[in-house]
Amino acid sequence: MRIQDAFPKLKPAMLEPINPCPVCGAETTLAEIEPHPLHIDFEIHGYLCDRCGPTKSLVVLRSPPLQVLM
Ligand SMILES: [Zn+2]
Repeated sequence: MRIQDAFPKLKPAMLEPINPCPVCGAETTLAEIEPHPLHIDFEIHGYLCDRCGPTKSLVVLRSPPLQVLM
């Protein structure tokens, strides 16, 4: 029997890496999610720094719908 999960590549969603502020380096928080104006499969995530305000935005692939686990 092979052991396949010795090096799991998928982390739980709760363990997302922090997003440091590009200005001061403090952790930013996800403040808003907007649909991408050109690509329907993407979203724009706006991050807010406590000190600097909205300093960062990321274009990310839209999250799949939540799976029903039951
Ligand atoms: Zn900052």
